[in-house]
Amino acid sequence: MRVGLDVGGTKTDAVAVDAGGAVVGRVRLATGWGPEAVTRTVIEAVGALSRDAGIDRARITSVGIGIPGQVEPGTSRVMHAVNLGVEELDLAAATATALGVPVRVENDVKAAALGAFVLHDVSGSMAYLNLGTGVAAGFVRAGEIWRGARGTAGEVGHISVDPNGPLCRCGQRGCIEALAGGGAIAARWARPGALPVRDVFDASDAGDPVAAALRAGLARGVASAVRVLVLTADVDVVLIGGGLTALGDRLVGDVAAELSASASASPFLRSLHLEERVELLPPGSPAAALGAALVGATRDEVSVP
Ligand SMILES: [Zn+2]
Repeated sequence: MRVGLDVGGTKTDAVAVDAGGAVVGRVRLATGWGPEAVTRTVIEAVGALSRDAGIDRARITSVGIGIPGQVEPGTSRVMHAVNLGVEELDLAAATATALGVPVRVENDVKAAALGAFVLHDVSGSMAYLNLGTGVAAGFVRAGEIWRGARGTAGEVGHISVDPNGPLCRCGQRGCIEALAGGGAIAARWARPGALPVRDVFDASDAGDPVAAALRAGLARGVASAVRVLVLTADVDVVLIGGGLTALGDRLVGDVAAELSASASASPFLRSLHLEERVELLPPGSPAAALGAALVGATRDEVSVP
């Protein structure tokens, strides 16, 4: 039995995966803030799987953790997980004694990419494009995460696509994330509400010009990300996941219209059939936690179809 945790900014999603790769238990709990609290959350999540989901603790052979931060390749050291209040933390070192099994750590988007590849039954190559507070992608080829030389492969959020566009938190202008990141959109919308991006779509439908501009920017940013992913890696599928997928057809429709407009202007882009390569991961999918469980499996246990 392998356990996978997706440690998010507010919630941690934990799954237990059996030898056949099926999710046999799932719990969610609130994520703590800061290195000690995040460490405690990880240990508690494994405890909750056994207490609340009936997973026999003795049968757990590994724990994999997906976390929103940079993970130094080949280590379990997490850096700059700003949404968790963690500057630097060796998560395996901090939890292995309490958990008593091997612990491996991966960037959350890369883990989600692997989980999505398996759940969505993708054959060939795939880019997973995560649309949440930020924008990032992960590549999976032949069932394996492709990290690049320093783990940066897929960080498409900070490719600038408009030198005159809005300022990004990274210091550049017109980054894909500045256009399509939920956090950037919420900051520019600057009105109260629990679901700011949905509010932007509603206000745009009601004729608000500021909302319409933000919504158009989101579609432009996502379409740019799709073009970048296909033009650099020529993946078979770009699978879109993350919190913004709750917008469903409203998001897909906008992005499809944007891709179709660029295809009608360019025979080259038309020949790439970008629209046909884009798919949506169903909201609430356990992709990230499942991917973490697969990452967490020790080498000889790894068997991703
Ligand atoms: Zn940026």
